[in-house]
Amino acid sequence: MTADRQAVTQVLSGLAEIRPWYQDLYRHLHANPELSMAEYATAERIATELRNTPGADDAEITTGIGNTGVTAVLRNGDEPCVLIRADMDALPVREATGLGYASTATGTSPDGSSVPVMHACGHDSHVTCQLAAYRLLAAHRDTWSGTLIALFQPAEEAFDGAQTMADDNLADRIPKPDVALAQHVLPGAAGTVMISPGPIMAACDDMFITVHGKGGHGSAPHETVDPVVLTAAIVMRLQTIVSREVDPNDVAVITVGRMEAGTKNNIIPDTAEIELTVRTYDERVRTRTLDAIHRVVRAEALASGAPEPEIRFLSRLPLTTNDPAVTEQVRQAFTAHFGEDRTRPKEREAGSEDFGIIPDLFGTPYCYWCFGAHDPAGWYAAEAAGTAGSDFPDCHSPYFAPLLDALDTGVEAMVVAALAWLGTDRA
Ligand SMILES: [Zn+2]
Ligand SMILES: [Zn+2]
Repeated sequence: MTADRQAVTQVLSGLAEIRPWYQDLYRHLHANPELSMAEYATAERIATELRNTPGADDAEITTGIGNTGVTAVLRNGDEPCVLIRADMDALPVREATGLGYASTATGTSPDGSSVPVMHACGHDSHVTCQLAAYRLLAAHRDTWSGTLIALFQPAEEAFDGAQTMADDNLADRIPKPDVALAQHVLPGAAGTVMISPGPIMAACDDMFITVHGKGGHGSAPHETVDPVVLTAAIVMRLQTIVSREVDPNDVAVITVGRMEAGTKNNIIPDTAEIELTVRTYDERVRTRTLDAIHRVVRAEALASGAPEPEIRFLSRLPLTTNDPAVTEQVRQAFTAHFGEDRTRPKEREAGSEDFGIIPDLFGTPYCYWCFGAHDPAGWYAAEAAGTAGSDFPDCHSPYFAPLLDALDTGVEAMVVAALAWLGTDRA
């Protein structure tokens, strides 16, 4: 048995003993979700658990990074330095799982209204699994060497939590990691992990365009510059970018989700607004697509004799792209631990994620994998019938309810991946 495998066996020998603790913790977090940038009680609980971790009295724990972010730096020798990351926030969703520990919590949305809150994206499981992995690794420091950084991030769902931590001097507060690791619970058979190299989540560019015209009476369009007609032309022309400018071997999505102008049928308004989202898997395609959007919007305005439109980004997320070498090392460790059957490839998604901002801050390569949430027998039967996608609730659904058993795999995966990188010569 390799040193890595011996260390995994020793560290995970404590799993059964702490299972009641982390299942309780999970139920507590699930019943008490908090919206993005309001994860105060969650962060406090995390800090308490970190401080009470046996064998980790010397860890440097920092709270309030980027509002509610928490880090714990556990030094057990200097190198290598491994960062593990979990996101903490929940969503404005009214839970409908019927679980005994279902959320009835409410929160305040950005517009000030009260909304129901649910951990519909499973970030409660990410926090739980990371705290459990930290506890197991802290209890067996004789089996590994290096520095372990456990990072708990706010506001992944708002797409700004990682950036807010970065902007709050994260780079000065923790050592530079050699590798960064993160995971997400997803629809899939509980007990399985899904991992692939390369791009796995899309880059996201959300844009807001203000089209300027010249308003006037609906009966005298010749004296106006009609931003409604101009906006319609822009929206149609934007649809030609993917079909006419993006290489058929590449992938891009442009969706205009909102267009708004005017107040009344016989008034030509001064302005119109367009909001759109762009998803790509390649920086080259991303640049080309965004350039084309700018060109089309400006050119259509010019064609209408309208002033220069204003184009700005609402949010931008990097491509989540797994470093091939890091991912191969983690994948081999997963295969050795879970077996080939339970280590599956991860199909790429057009969804987006802000995790990459943290390793990118340090120029650190990373690996992001997923673990399955649902009843394995039911999942495999549905998969064989081709109905798994529709039979099981996805993340963000009010019915999304990962099995408690799924947590074991999340804990094991985080331990196995961390030990694939921490020094294990001492095991
Ligand atoms: Zn989500
Ligand atoms: Zn999520």
